[in-house]
Amino acid sequence: MKIEKIEIRYLEGKLKYPFAWSQRWTDTRSVINIKVFTDNDIIGWGETFGSLENLDSISSVLKFSIGEDPRNIQKIWNKLYRSTFQGHVFAKSAVYAISALDTALYDIVGKYENKTASQILGGNFRNSIPVYATGLYYVNDYSFNDLIKEAEEHASCGYKGMKMKIGALTLKEDAERVIEVKKAIGDGIKLMFDANEAYDPISAIKFTKLVSEVELEWFEEPCASRDDAANTYVRNNSLIPISGAESLSTRWDIVPRMINNVFDIIQPDICAVGGPSEMNKVGIIAQTLGKKFNPHFWGTGISFAAALHSLSVQPITQIGMKDIPYENESVLECDRTPHPVRENLTNDIFTHKNSRIDLPTGNGLGIEVDEKALDSFTVGNVIKIDSPSLGRRIY
Ligand SMILES: [Mg+2]
Repeated sequence: MKIEKIEIRYLEGKLKYPFAWSQRWTDTRSVINIKVFTDNDIIGWGETFGSLENLDSISSVLKFSIGEDPRNIQKIWNKLYRSTFQGHVFAKSAVYAISALDTALYDIVGKYENKTASQILGGNFRNSIPVYATGLYYVNDYSFNDLIKEAEEHASCGYKGMKMKIGALTLKEDAERVIEVKKAIGDGIKLMFDANEAYDPISAIKFTKLVSEVELEWFEEPCASRDDAANTYVRNNSLIPISGAESLSTRWDIVPRMINNVFDIIQPDICAVGGPSEMNKVGIIAQTLGKKFNPHFWGTGISFAAALHSLSVQPITQIGMKDIPYENESVLECDRTPHPVRENLTNDIFTHKNSRIDLPTGNGLGIEVDEKALDSFTVGNVIKIDSPSLGRRIY
């Protein structure tokens, strides 16, 4: 079996209403999609982050996989990584390409062997994954009433945890929003809050003091993710566990930060960390180093299925009698903010029962892609590559 051709597209959907986090407002949602063709007519799907302008650099990296046997997943991962090692592997496009391709390879090999992606990854420990709802962004001119209403909706449909945004308003205003959301959802539902790198360490510590009257599960990205000194300062002075790493890539970004206790909870995203292969390695190392591993998610059903399969093969983080979400079992982020592409591109794999989502059971990733939706959300040209790179490396 050989990889013959790859199509790379930028997909974008317009939102009915804009929403915001600490850094900006948005009125669109987007994703980069790849469709990998093999010489035996098996097709694999992958996706990653990036803008329309990233397509050229991503396709230049993907060229290194043309002609390879997709069953050699680790060999291909390392070929792409090494080809870009001294160049832009650290500037995202390369690791975005690797992440998308690695996801597509598990889809292809699963379909080829009549197995699920989790079976290709080594076999699953569990058939469902605990999830929490991500939403509670700033909407409608920072409306407080809309925030509380949304929190009550997530609670009433059975989520056992949810995450809200902070960092766009004053410390006092955001602290009041956190306290009131927690009071609205009650003690039985966990609440996490995410600054998206908005604070300096002193402000972050001040914030933890302002919300100390309620119990909170974690404080996400208080400071810039690569500012280890700032995050370590916050971690050492906060009673609330600190999380991060959604924007970090590969074990080489993340493991030193685990060893140095920069974060309590590691949250790699399968679209940026390096795909299921790397997610797996980082998860196992997190367990070894006693760090919690609760991955980030911001894509469509393609990367969500890949994340579900990846988490299904992770053992619990401490030895115990049973899996207990948040305590010894990893929980996966389930983005519930509007996303026209996510809502239409694949069959619905986001339905939860009791805050758990079943693993797809079909071969490969176990998802169906609606190609009409794929075409309708495509912006710009579809890049098609069908010949290997003439060069040996990209610098
Ligand atoms: Mg986040």
